[in-house]
Order: sequence, then C-alpha cells, then structure tokens
Amino acid sequence: MESLAKPDNVTEEDCVVPNTGVFHLRSVSAEADGPETIRALRCVEVQCAACSTVSSLSEGNGLVDLGGAGILTCNTCGARQGVSRVRFEEFVKRFPTGVLGGPGSLQASAPLQ
Ligand SMILES: [Zn+2]
Repeated sequence: MESLAKPDNVTEEDCVVPNTGVFHLRSVSAEADGPETIRALRCVEVQCAACSTVSSLSEGNGLVDLGGAGILTCNTCGARQGVSRVRFEEFVKRFPTGVLGGPGSLQASAPLQ
C-alpha cells in the first residue's frame, strides 16, 4: 500500500532554499484536481519578507510550478523559496474563498499576516 502521507518536498537541487518563510502567502490561484487538491499553480500573490515587496507571481514571472508545488522568486531582490503543494493546499483549506473561474480551479486569499 502506498502511504497517503507521501512527502511532497521540492527536491530539485537547484531549488533547495534552506530558510523557509521568506514569503508570506496572500493569495493562491490554482488548477484543482478536487475540492482541496491542487494540480497546478496559476498565480500566487506573496509578500517578500526580505524587501517587503508584494508580487503577483505567475508561470514565467517568478513562479515555477512543479505540479502543485512551486518555486517562488522575488522580482525585486531575488529571494527564492520552494513551497510544497501541501502548504498551498493547507492555505486553500484555511482560506477558502470560493471557486474562481468555474470547476477545476481553486482560489484562496488571506489578509496579510
Ligand atoms: Zn524581495
């Protein structure tokens, strides 16, 4: 039997960033496989803790989607962080603001923390 608790860490050596928490998630827009399951990231709005810039990251613009996990890069100071799919899913679960764009998509947003 496969474990359902399979780790979902970002493993690409190029992308390992030891310190987490560089970015504060503000909103997540993603393609969904289920009510709380992310298949692919579309757009992630974050605030960079290093330079305080709020950025809306999308594929090719500071966001690398890895099947629901993501590599975030600050366009201003270049800070990078890998974020697991589980973390995005937890965010969506904590801040469900409804479905955006019809079936197959997830949207979540939260006030700045
Ligand atoms: Zn920054």
